[in-house]
Amino acid sequence: MAKDLLIGSHVSMNGPEYYLGSVKEAISYGATTFMFYTGAPQNSYRKPLEELKIKEGRSLLKEHGFDESKIVVHAPYIINAANPSKPELLDLSIKTIINELQRTEAFGASMLVLHPGNHLGAGPDAAIDVLADSLDKVFASDGTNVKIAIETMAGKGSEIGTCFEQVRDIIEKCHYKDRLGVCLDTCHVSDAGYDINDTDGLLDEFDRIIGLERLLVVHVNDSKNQRGAHKDRHENLGYGEIGFDALCRIANHPRLKNIPKILETPYINEKAPYSDEIRMLRAESFEPNWKDKYLA
Ligand code: FE
Ligand code: FE
Ligand code: ZN
Repeated sequence: MAKDLLIGSHVSMNGPEYYLGSVKEAISYGATTFMFYTGAPQNSYRKPLEELKIKEGRSLLKEHGFDESKIVVHAPYIINAANPSKPELLDLSIKTIINELQRTEAFGASMLVLHPGNHLGAGPDAAIDVLADSLDKVFASDGTNVKIAIETMAGKGSEIGTCFEQVRDIIEKCHYKDRLGVCLDTCHVSDAGYDINDTDGLLDEFDRIIGLERLLVVHVNDSKNQRGAHKDRHENLGYGEIGFDALCRIANHPRLKNIPKILETPYINEKAPYSDEIRMLRAESFEPNWKDKYLA
């Protein structure tokens, strides 16, 4: 069993145990890393750090041999730092990102996944310029060394960051390039039109356009929809249009060895599927009908 595979899932952070509970949840899945939100994914309201049992969580992490530098924080969805039409909302997004970077650092983590945002009709080029400028403002004043991983998006609505070229342009236009990296989401890139089955072709293209050294996180998700559908609906491993084999090749790819692989697949009947999905990826073997026991 390749215990050294850097694999985990998103985990919750709820009271009363907060971060301590997040770490326990990751351990219960047999994970070697994980991703969490420092509050609700949908809004920017955040509980004070003192209440979140960070110290307790971090000491449990160390006890279990987790590499803290590979733990991932995801910024709330509400942020649109690429908004080309509403400067007041832009300021709010910038403040929220700065706050999230500082919170990420307080947890001892070193990367924050950020959705690049929506162009809202202004077109991707204009929005990319706005985003690069917002990121400059963030990095000019956040005071941390936390990196932002721009997530590749499916192309739902007016999302930007839907191809490697757009993600490259965001990085190129920002003056703090060493603070930026990328989060590749398999469901999103498939929905955006890329062929995940051609794993090496995909990684070569990423390397040619962005540079593989920029890749900080991989989100391993199957997709409910066909390649190019621009829908962004995640599916459990082996039950979607990408399929287990391609996702397993990504998770175990030697070129991605030191990059955290994070599952964001859906719960089944209110139960987390992650121990099963992690086990199958480690074993590099699909267990047909593995979902059945959740449906019983
Ligand atoms: Fe995301
Ligand atoms: Fe994702
Ligand atoms: Zn998604």
